[in-house]
Amino acid sequence: MSAIPPVTLEHIRRVPKVLLHDHLDGSLRPETVAELADATGYRGLPTTDVGELGRWFREAADSGSLVSYLETFAHTCGVMQTEDALVRVAAECAEDLADDGVVYAEVRYAPELFVERGLTLDAVVEAVQEGFAQGERRAAERGKFIRTGTLLCAMRQHARAQEIAEIAVRYRDTGVVGFDIAGPEAGFPPTRNLDAFEYLRTNNAHFTIHAGEAFGLASIWEAIQHCGAERLGHGVRIVDDIKSDPDGTAHLGPLASYVRDRRIPLEICPSSNVQTGAAASIADHPIGLLARLHFRVTVNTDNRLMSGCTVSSEFAALADAFGYGWADLQWFTINAMKSAFLDFDLRLALINNVIKPGYAPLLA
Ligand SMILES: [Zn+2]
Repeated sequence: MSAIPPVTLEHIRRVPKVLLHDHLDGSLRPETVAELADATGYRGLPTTDVGELGRWFREAADSGSLVSYLETFAHTCGVMQTEDALVRVAAECAEDLADDGVVYAEVRYAPELFVERGLTLDAVVEAVQEGFAQGERRAAERGKFIRTGTLLCAMRQHARAQEIAEIAVRYRDTGVVGFDIAGPEAGFPPTRNLDAFEYLRTNNAHFTIHAGEAFGLASIWEAIQHCGAERLGHGVRIVDDIKSDPDGTAHLGPLASYVRDRRIPLEICPSSNVQTGAAASIADHPIGLLARLHFRVTVNTDNRLMSGCTVSSEFAALADAFGYGWADLQWFTINAMKSAFLDFDLRLALINNVIKPGYAPLLA
């Protein structure tokens, strides 16, 4: 009998993991940002030194200043305005995730952010899909398995949700698995885009909504009850509807009960929430309470470049803060796989043929 390995980053990287919430423009390699800036003539980078650039992204995102935070995306989007750049970024995204042991990932992006140099929205989507296909192939050549799907985001502050929803439906058979609304929550309630959500539901298409990150319960309630979101991007503010007694007994309000009863998945991104101030630290993050109460919790990266994280490092940080063991990490992983916008038979096959066998030797 061999001893069960400890829950360390090194071992976590080897077990199968599933990622549902990751932004393509938030997860470039620093060297790729620098090389694409050079290749495409983008002049705005704060530095071209790759090491400094990686640090700059994390520090700017960490600074507590919204202006610096948004500047990081101006640079990544700035270098992603050509088909070649989009193919490369998507291919590297798939490869990086595969190297981290992610076996299924849904990566999201807003096509409308990549048309500054004249690409059409369709050309953007096709380039990204081509990149993911290339990345999956290159990973497979190196003996790593990953399957990817994409989510098309509409930006809350723009008025193109219907158009983007139509593209998501049109490309549903070529790797686009769903839709999302991203951008600032305050002042832009999801109900502004009701037509798009109705169109998606009419077409039996899947969607999640960024809701309950910094903004409160009203945003979560609208996303679920008015818009019909199947999952919540972040959703951590659902804790505002839970009261805890001094002895730890929890009392769920009606919305928190509904979210838990209906098994509505929460796409939780711990490090990102700490960076934006939605949680004080990983140890203080509501994920501890939500997992203990058996909400459908999933663990995600949000923006790997800005947060300097991977799925494995998020798992490791949570294991440190909450004492999670292999059974807990398998639970998060199966939660995510169950919640994916992938055909049921494929989800089941990944759970039974990849995820459970990957954790089985670690569960005493
Ligand atoms: Zn996000």
